[in-house]
Amino acid sequence: MPRPERSYRTPAIILKRFDLGEADRLLTLFTPLYGKLEAIAKGARKLTSHKTGHVELFTRAEMLLHRGRELDIVAQSEMTAPYLALREDLVRGAYANYCAELLDRFTSSNEADGASRLFTLFDETLARLCDDADPRLAVRYFEIHLLDIVGYRPELSRCVIGGETIQAEDQYFSYVEGGAVCPKDAVRGSAATPIAMPTLKLMRHMQRSPYGQVRALTVPPDVHDELERIQQGYITHLLERRLQSVDFIRRVR
Ligand SMILES: [Zn+2]
Repeated sequence: MPRPERSYRTPAIILKRFDLGEADRLLTLFTPLYGKLEAIAKGARKLTSHKTGHVELFTRAEMLLHRGRELDIVAQSEMTAPYLALREDLVRGAYANYCAELLDRFTSSNEADGASRLFTLFDETLARLCDDADPRLAVRYFEIHLLDIVGYRPELSRCVIGGETIQAEDQYFSYVEGGAVCPKDAVRGSAATPIAMPTLKLMRHMQRSPYGQVRALTVPPDVHDELERIQQGYITHLLERRLQSVDFIRRVR
């Protein structure tokens, strides 16, 4: 959705924040209608700024923005979810930072497609990272649903090489093909990494279930480790490919 001509109100979560000059801040925001956008919060670094004083990282706010020639300007900002634990707990904050970076890197500015679902997913994830006993599981859930929304949903039910139904046994996962590979096709030379059945089952469960059902699980450390290795391996592969295509476009231009 194109942003309105002059001023507009929107919920926004602050993904990134840079100091700009003496008193201003450059913000990267994520919004449900307009996706990711950059805006300037003038005077945000002055203690006396009441209108835009609360532009902390990983908070949700109701904002009034003015359209600028190049960048929009935050005219008012009222915090609606402080997510305080993310700034008080180093580990939880690091997870939030990681999720924000993934959201930033998998989206383009002013891309409205999927923005509403991404906003809700990220907002809910920040709340889970504050409250949950196992914040690592909230991160994995975020990853797999982020991939779904941005078009990289891993195929976990059928072999991505031969199309066979994936059986209840140890399998393989291909980063290049984006999904599970049966043992028969894995030995025939496609580059795939082993994935144990409990890990694959958990991925499937996360993919199709609401978080309330996933949160109730106690995930053994070895499954957690493998889940992290597989999902981050796939994400790293996708981001490298994405960077290469951005680089290619730049060189063609
Ligand atoms: Zn196969």
